[in-house]
Amino acid sequence: MLRRTVLTSLAATAAAPAFGDTYPSRPITMVVPFAAGGPTDLMARVVGERMTKELGRQFVIENATGAAGTIGVGKVARAASDGYTISIGHLGTHVANGTIYRNLNYDLLTDLTPIARLPSNPMLVVASNAMPAHTLKELVDHLKANPDEVSGGTAGIGSGSHLGALAFFAATGAKYQLVPYRGTGPAVQDLSANQIQVMVDQSSNSLPHVRAGKIRAYAVTAKVRSAAMPDIPTAAEAGYPMEVAIWHGLWAPKGTPPEIVAKLNSAAVATLQDPAIRTRMEDLGQDLPTPAEMAPAAFGEFHRAEFAKWKKILETADVKVE
Ligand code: ASP
Repeated sequence: MLRRTVLTSLAATAAAPAFGDTYPSRPITMVVPFAAGGPTDLMARVVGERMTKELGRQFVIENATGAAGTIGVGKVARAASDGYTISIGHLGTHVANGTIYRNLNYDLLTDLTPIARLPSNPMLVVASNAMPAHTLKELVDHLKANPDEVSGGTAGIGSGSHLGALAFFAATGAKYQLVPYRGTGPAVQDLSANQIQVMVDQSSNSLPHVRAGKIRAYAVTAKVRSAAMPDIPTAAEAGYPMEVAIWHGLWAPKGTPPEIVAKLNSAAVATLQDPAIRTRMEDLGQDLPTPAEMAPAAFGEFHRAEFAKWKKILETADVKVE
């Protein structure tokens, strides 16, 4: 009897699928730390829709906004490590914030585990159509002649649009007032309504508005012009060299089983190999990582290197929130 019981339980153990084999068996929540309609939200929706097809389970987008993304990222850092809650974010939320926010109650490098690197966006220096300046030089002159009168949108201190503004201030010596939003989706709407006048914004967010003639673009913050917007000069061509690109990524809570991370990674890699998705992203000026760059270990190494690089930059610039 005893023997039979033991055999039965051994057989049950052998037959029981490993946790990773049955994953995913229910919807997966992807936490977007900014408002709907912005660049992180767009990335999440495009990638999540395709990953849903790959894994056969719904990716549900949850916008948990506030404090430059620190609230949404913190939610995932404290979530169960079962692969059902994952974090999407970028250079701002998962790198800069770790140096800027001194009181974060999670550690970006150790409380999250990398799943996959996602595309990178150059930034556009953009303005409301009501802005009298028509070139980057004229914009800089206008800002210098009207100190403190021009407002520019950001998604909070440490967000991509804030890092873009810092690069703009450093490159031009001009300044504008920073107005924080819950995401740059709402900010670019206000820009086209002239509620604010300028932004340094990710191309995926502002390019559609530039193409529709609702806002004006002066320069792209990249080394070379983008095939998606060949008429927009580089910042160097426009007289003020500056290069900033906001890369994105996916992370899970630390301790998530490697088989689950591997499944999520394969689905993300397949997503970025899809020609329709590639075309859609490249049309917004985005650069896509290779499958090798997307691998969890390579992405983790890249994340740590970026963290160290930006820690120095932000400490030198003395950007902090206590
Ligand atoms: N990623 C944007 C930023 O950092 C915000 C957003 O996605 O809405 O500026």
